[in-house]
Amino acid sequence: MSVSFYDFNNLHHEEFKKEILSRITDIVNEGSFIDSKYNASFEKRFAEIQNAKHCLLVGNGTDALEIALLAYGIKSGDKVGVPGITFYATAEAVLNIGAIPVYIDTDLKTGLMDPQSLKRVTETHKLSAVIPVHIYGLPAPILEIEKICDPLEIKIVEDAAQAQGGSYVDGGPIGSSKNLTTFSFYPTKNLSAFGDAGCILTQDDNLKEEIITIRNHGRGNSNRLGRNSRCDHVQAAVLDLKLDEIKKLNQQRKEVASNYLNELKGIQEIEILDGKFINCSSWHLFPIKVKDEKIRKELQAFLADKKIGNTPFYERTLSQEKSLGGYEGENENSLNLAGRVICLPMHPFLSKEDISFVSTAIKEYFNT
Ligand SMILES: *Cc1c(COP(=O)(O)O)cnc(C)c1O
Repeated sequence: MSVSFYDFNNLHHEEFKKEILSRITDIVNEGSFIDSKYNASFEKRFAEIQNAKHCLLVGNGTDALEIALLAYGIKSGDKVGVPGITFYATAEAVLNIGAIPVYIDTDLKTGLMDPQSLKRVTETHKLSAVIPVHIYGLPAPILEIEKICDPLEIKIVEDAAQAQGGSYVDGGPIGSSKNLTTFSFYPTKNLSAFGDAGCILTQDDNLKEEIITIRNHGRGNSNRLGRNSRCDHVQAAVLDLKLDEIKKLNQQRKEVASNYLNELKGIQEIEILDGKFINCSSWHLFPIKVKDEKIRKELQAFLADKKIGNTPFYERTLSQEKSLGGYEGENENSLNLAGRVICLPMHPFLSKEDISFVSTAIKEYFNT
């Protein structure tokens, strides 16, 4: 037996393949390769699903972050708060537009941005923006973050690359807040393209126009320097087709997570996520935490030996990455957390037997 980390075969089933090939034939016949009817359809439907006023497709999730910051008017030299535990792109986007990342510490239990740390950092640094990340698919505490940021006029960009299908703790799908929210549709995300794509959600008509201008070379506004971050018609066609099934697939992820939580509870040597997240997380990943890095490495090898897919997200804090280090802020909890997390196989097609196999292996490792 083996349990893979992802499953693209079931995702791209026969019926899906048939329909997508027919859409691609249609695109070739039409000769419409950039921003076209499937882009318009996806943008309209996705905005509706996420309860946002506008959705703007862009080239990828990192561009989405950069364009969101630019649309908010963040410029070279401005300071932007980012969590210490996230994918590189969150801080990379800040540096790519010439702004300066300032690290905000994480909540040890969840790995999410800690509002207390954000508050302290705003007392010593003038932040222009902050990027809370809905890491693993868990909703960041946006209301608390807004309470700190609003009086100081700090813009909020929510990095929801991992959170499609998630909702805020106090309700509403991720992306329905007043902030700019960015998604990535990289092939491993909950909603995925056949390559790179991303989008930005907004409730604001003016920001929508800014984003449309920036993503297409500044066209339509001679004052604004843009870039090329258009979304190909084929990617939009894939995304639009996948919307038909996304609700069902995210529901299946919740069931997988719920089974894991049941199977793994009671193992003293690991920490698992709080069951209160069952309905609000997108369950993009299923992280467990062990005591230290040595055990993490051993357990990873033990699982790999049994052909159980797993990854150590995240082995290092962003401040420990050579290209992202040397910036100010708070990292104590992030440093504590880094290196201790293993993400278990997580996709909509895991059976009860798969989950039981993974859980039994973990129990076997700890001899419990
Ligand atoms: C995947 C991801 C991104 C980057 O998205 P790309 O489409 O690869 O550019 C940004 N932030 C987080 C948290 C991610 O997981």
